[in-house]
Amino acid sequence: MLLDSKLKLITIFFVFCSLLTTTNSKAEEKLKIVATTTMIGDLVQNLIEDDLKLEILMGAGIDPHLYKPTRSDVLKMSQANLVLYHGLFLEGRMLDAFERLRTSGKKVKAVAENILLSNAQESIEPADPHIWMDPKLWNEVLSVILAELIALSPKHEQVFTARKNLYSEKLKLLDENSEKVLKTIPIEKRVLVTAHDAFHYFGLRYGFQVEGIQGISTESEAGVKDIERLVNILTQKKITAVFTESTVSEKNISALVDGVKNAGGEVKIGDSLYSDSMGNRGTYQGTYIGMIDHNISTITKFLGGDVPDTGIMSLENK
Ligand SMILES: [Zn+2]
Repeated sequence: MLLDSKLKLITIFFVFCSLLTTTNSKAEEKLKIVATTTMIGDLVQNLIEDDLKLEILMGAGIDPHLYKPTRSDVLKMSQANLVLYHGLFLEGRMLDAFERLRTSGKKVKAVAENILLSNAQESIEPADPHIWMDPKLWNEVLSVILAELIALSPKHEQVFTARKNLYSEKLKLLDENSEKVLKTIPIEKRVLVTAHDAFHYFGLRYGFQVEGIQGISTESEAGVKDIERLVNILTQKKITAVFTESTVSEKNISALVDGVKNAGGEVKIGDSLYSDSMGNRGTYQGTYIGMIDHNISTITKFLGGDVPDTGIMSLENK
């Protein structure tokens, strides 16, 4: 009887010890990355899978131009091994927090800031941060993130690089298919009017005239003159649709539609586009590819082009 309970005690002791070791090694293994937006989070997740830990601060539908970090965000960033954000003033109200983290010795990286320079894009003042709207440019950000992740965890270099090459091919296909589908819209109808100026790089890449009622940041106010100018463009070119955005209020777009009606024209509101955040987590639109597929399909459908019901990624690659 005595021997039996001694054995039990010894077993419990060993189970306890092994549990302790597992917990400790898990805590040591997983380095933590914090990303500001869902778009950066998507790239990171595709590279790290379960090898490192990722937290995203702004969920679906959150406007990064206006976002102020919460106490819990600051805590998450201070506990992370690496903080990734876009830069180019996208996260305009988080800059002080990034600076404080940098001063404390934290690795904080703006992933989009050197991309524009390397592409010699026309200079835009103030800087335009919306480069994810061009999958070709966004593919370059994937390389920037890969370099940061390898520096953080050199033992994962091979596996991160292999995943990067795979995902990079998918982004290339996304870009090629976007181009094919958008070309089905008659040239004179390639005018994209949205709530704010998030689609400049989309326009440069695919040959669209792009007009936002508000400026590059949603912090700017739209004036009566902006609306009048757009009413003229829409009525003269007989453009059939304008688009709302997932992170911006519909107010200005509705004013624009009324303006066109008063001028004797007709324009409808197309489905909402994902501008500064992806869709809900767990859905197709909650991935970067799904977000762009949705936008390209919606724009094509409403401006008179042809797009498969199953989305642009279902196109055969020829
Ligand atoms: Zn924006």
